[in-house]
Amino acid sequence: MRSRNLFDPASKEPFKLSRSRIERFLKCPCCFYLDRRLGVDQVSGPAFTLNSATDTLLKKEFDVCRAEGKKHPIMAKNNINAVPFQHRDLNEWRENFKGVQYHHKPTNFIVTGAVDDVWVDPNGKLIVVDYKSTSTAKVISLDDEWKQAYKRQMEIYQWLLRRNGFDVSNTGYFVYVNADTGQDAFDGKLVFDEQLIEYIGDDSWVEDAITEAHLCLMRDTIPQSTATCDWCNYRNESLVFFKN
Ligand code: SF4
Repeated sequence: MRSRNLFDPASKEPFKLSRSRIERFLKCPCCFYLDRRLGVDQVSGPAFTLNSATDTLLKKEFDVCRAEGKKHPIMAKNNINAVPFQHRDLNEWRENFKGVQYHHKPTNFIVTGAVDDVWVDPNGKLIVVDYKSTSTAKVISLDDEWKQAYKRQMEIYQWLLRRNGFDVSNTGYFVYVNADTGQDAFDGKLVFDEQLIEYIGDDSWVEDAITEAHLCLMRDTIPQSTATCDWCNYRNESLVFFKN
């Protein structure tokens, strides 16, 4: 059980709440409460090191274009009228545990979210960009149920940048890289297709979600768990099994 980074309803200190924890709250207030209030987090899985590697390399590529004030080839190919954004805080915005931050006074939360990239159009409007890696023979889209979280992720970044005073476009982009398993051999490398997927965001839900998350943490009772979650079902069925 963790004893740090716990929400204390009596504290006057601002409490950091990351984008991923807001997502956790939306999926299951019980899990969110157990983690942020009682220090019992979900069991973490192995790190997605291949995804991190593609993110790192994409950042390097886009940073070369940023330094030169030029479009990346995938932007040119898709007729995007923008270039990678230059800002002194960009590296901080991209850093986990820092990210873009906003002090939401009504809840006293410091809301954070680490963006992958930001582009800017000729009118100075910012465009939020997220890198994603996959390996699939299917046409990539944002239609799967589990990808609704990707959309919310982008919308929180848009909200955060707006709260920091920037003019932000509702249009964001996912730079998707897809490892091609149709190659004849591995030959010590993965070959990726690159695809740009446009998404029109709507951050109007974010404020309410933050307020609800705060109300959840202020309570002294643990919320109901989500009935469809495999983890809790597994735990409950195991308990029944061991009791018998
Ligand atoms: S149902 Fe249980 S394991 Fe699943 S997210 Fe909620 S508290 Fe966590």
